[in-house]
Amino acid sequence: MGSNFTRKKILWCLWALIVPAGLVIVYHFFPPSVADPWNLLAYVLFFVLMSLMPMNINGASTFLVQWVTVALFLKYGLFIEMLVSQASMLIVLYRIRTNEEQSLRIPFNSLMFFLVSLIAGLAYIGAGGQIGSLELTHVIVYGLVFQVVSVLSNQVIYKLYDYTTGNRSKFFSIDAIWDFALMLVIFPFAIALYMFESYIGIPALVLLGVPFFIMAAVMKKFTSSEQVNIDLKRAGAIGHQLADRLETNEVLDQFVVQVAKMFKVEYAYVIDYRDGQQQMLRIYENNQLQPREIASIPYNRGIAGKVIVTNDSYIYDEKSQWQDLITGNLPKDTESLMATPIARNNKTEGVLVLASKKRYAFAKHQLQILEILSTYFAVSLEKTSYMQKVIAKSERCGLTKLYNYRYLDESLESCIAEMHKGKLEQLSLIMMDIDHFKSINDRYGHQSGNDILVQLAAILTEEIGEEGTIARYGGEEFVVLLTDYSKDLAMLLAENLRRRIEKHEFLIKSDLGDDRGQQIVHITLSIGVSTAPDDSDEGMALIRNADRALYIGAKQAGRNKVAAYSK
Ligand code: GH3
Ligand code: MG
Ligand code: MG
Repeated sequence: MGSNFTRKKILWCLWALIVPAGLVIVYHFFPPSVADPWNLLAYVLFFVLMSLMPMNINGASTFLVQWVTVALFLKYGLFIEMLVSQASMLIVLYRIRTNEEQSLRIPFNSLMFFLVSLIAGLAYIGAGGQIGSLELTHVIVYGLVFQVVSVLSNQVIYKLYDYTTGNRSKFFSIDAIWDFALMLVIFPFAIALYMFESYIGIPALVLLGVPFFIMAAVMKKFTSSEQVNIDLKRAGAIGHQLADRLETNEVLDQFVVQVAKMFKVEYAYVIDYRDGQQQMLRIYENNQLQPREIASIPYNRGIAGKVIVTNDSYIYDEKSQWQDLITGNLPKDTESLMATPIARNNKTEGVLVLASKKRYAFAKHQLQILEILSTYFAVSLEKTSYMQKVIAKSERCGLTKLYNYRYLDESLESCIAEMHKGKLEQLSLIMMDIDHFKSINDRYGHQSGNDILVQLAAILTEEIGEEGTIARYGGEEFVVLLTDYSKDLAMLLAENLRRRIEKHEFLIKSDLGDDRGQQIVHITLSIGVSTAPDDSDEGMALIRNADRALYIGAKQAGRNKVAAYSK
């Protein structure tokens, strides 16, 4: 911030020292001779008209009016050309105004235009060029000198300035080559305008102005269709990234940040619309998400309100166009706006607002792309909310297809409740843990470990059937809930299980070390049993007791054992 301020001061000082005095000196040494003031006036009007036309090509809006300034130079000399260049610079800066940088851009551009005009004009005169000459070869040769020197000096000054900001780029960048090419395209127009106007007067401006505009429009179309392609590609990439997200919050964060970056805006907002109110869901300002909370406002207020009410998208080029919609939620320096509904099944559920400090920051095609993006966004949100519901509702373990812990917990609680109501007399719980399972993983690989878990689950299902609820309790721990089972009966069932597993040949395909290929593996189980209401009449206690029995009575007693809980 500080260095920016000093930079501003230095620039303004340099400007004050050089530009006004420079103009006076130039006037003194090269006074303009205006024999036909009406023609000059027509030229200036024509020029202002040109500057106001939206002809920005690849950021080179000032460049396209240069053919007129070159013609003005050839006819009226350096002083008039300088004045007109300065005016064109101001018009262009006003059009693309960015409040913040304005105080830096004006002195910089003014100085730059002044120096470029001066260097190119002196080169022209120094090389022997005559102002007002009507000899074609002379005009072409010296006119070219003027043009080439101005493009080159422009480039050199830019690079020097970049150097002072520590921004070292290549001298012959794509932009520089582009500038040069544009110069070559407009040079014949400049010569033609000058010669033609000298012979037939003001009608020449119209005769040449029309084809020039058409050419500029075609070029604009060309460059903007290229921009459309780039934007579409980026939009596609953002869509893919959104599709990968599983969490609603992730989708929201990612979307706001990516869209703000893609459209190079300073501000982006996602607004939720429900119950007749607008609630700000995400705020992106100063290159980051802001945790700030903003009170909700009625659904029909502001830009977002207009989007909600009309269910349509909007672009605003400058503040004056949306002055009547101000709610105070947008930063004061906002100029351009782009807003689009976020809709699901044709119903607006929210609004996306992008805001820029620049005027004319958005092109029409970008609004269409934003609409596509907001559809991606809505679909991704729908997907995550669906996924979250499914995950929350799921009762089965994905690997073994047995019930999961959540389900077990719920059915244990409902059994206990039934018992308390007297509808269920007793309830037993078997908990089992595979012995030394880690070493099986280590030896045959994690995938083989998984295969064993799946086979074990199948045996449990076969053995227990409808008698009990089988759940995968943890990694290699399983629980069976047996309603109306006494402790003795449960012990019997557990012992049968233990024996069956001990003898079972588990088939695996190992891909590790010496044991590569098909293998037969044996495992054993340590099992704990507890019963309600004998040991406890609470669900959690029943689990805890079975676990205690497993570790103390089975594992610590040497594994491959069944143990009952005893108080
Ligand atoms: P012990 O129970 O006899 O004390 O020995 P252990 O090796 O089974 O020890 P512990 O219960 O502490 O470790 C369980 C191991 O089971 C850890 C991990 O390697 C393995 N395991 C847990 N969940 C999975 C799983 O889903 N797949 C596979 N392949 N292995 C798992
Ligand atoms: Mg374990
Ligand atoms: Mg174990």
